[in-house]
Amino acid sequence: MSGYVGRFAPSPSAGLHAGSLVAALGSWLDARVHRGVWLVRIEDVDSRRSARGADRLILQQLAACGLHPDGTVWWQSRRGEAYAQALQRLREQGLAYACSCSRRDLERAGATLAPGGERVYPGTCREGARGAPRAWRLRLPDGAGAEVRWRCARLGEQCERVDRSVGDFVLQRADGDWAYQLAVVVDDAAQQVSDVVRGEDLASSTARQMLLQRALGVPTPNYLHLPLVRGADGRKLSKSEGAAVVQPGPRALCDAARVLGLQVDAGSVEQVLRQALAQWPARRRQWPSAPRETAR
Ligand SMILES: [Zn+2]
Repeated sequence: MSGYVGRFAPSPSAGLHAGSLVAALGSWLDARVHRGVWLVRIEDVDSRRSARGADRLILQQLAACGLHPDGTVWWQSRRGEAYAQALQRLREQGLAYACSCSRRDLERAGATLAPGGERVYPGTCREGARGAPRAWRLRLPDGAGAEVRWRCARLGEQCERVDRSVGDFVLQRADGDWAYQLAVVVDDAAQQVSDVVRGEDLASSTARQMLLQRALGVPTPNYLHLPLVRGADGRKLSKSEGAAVVQPGPRALCDAARVLGLQVDAGSVEQVLRQALAQWPARRRQWPSAPRETAR
């Protein structure tokens, strides 16, 4: 046992698509090469975005690709008690506060739009909600305390001022659903995840998750953000192209391995995985690329 614990954590809005298979394969390879444990966690906290049966389909697709989890699969929809305890701990320390703002309130307050399309929360309810509480937010450290420096094994050094990029962010939504960021941090800590290997589209969540880890007093894992799937012409896939559910098997695995920069030939699933495993350590050593900065 190396102490390495990795995980693949898909959102079950549909079955695995090309991009999520890359994340599954990359996280599996990294766990195997480190002689660690590879866990699968279904991230279905967002009840409106979860499709019925998609979780089962994902588990079948993983099995058909030879990617078998070590240990029991977790469903975030069954973890509400743990998230409630974490929020309670933050409230007791004065690190979470109730917010009564509606979307329109934020528009009216002139809250700036962050690159992701969300509004940067202007801190309206920091000193007390003005109406009926709707959501719970994390109280960020003031000023430079909200600056997070972190390192991705592929993207290099990163720096983000979370107060400028998102502000005090939501932990529990007005509809009662738990926020993705809180669920991920609580579960990574509970599962003792040492290494988070996931798609680059989630890199923008890392600084928020690290601030939550600090607030909850849990360790920060290592991070590796994998390349995204691009169209033949190198541009980002459209929503419909990107959302197509993959037919699991050696061909889909080969495609995923090539996105990771591995040279594999189609054969059986076992052959593809063996070739990919043999190349993974060298591939990993070629990273990180030059440092770059995320949204600020
Ligand atoms: Zn508010």
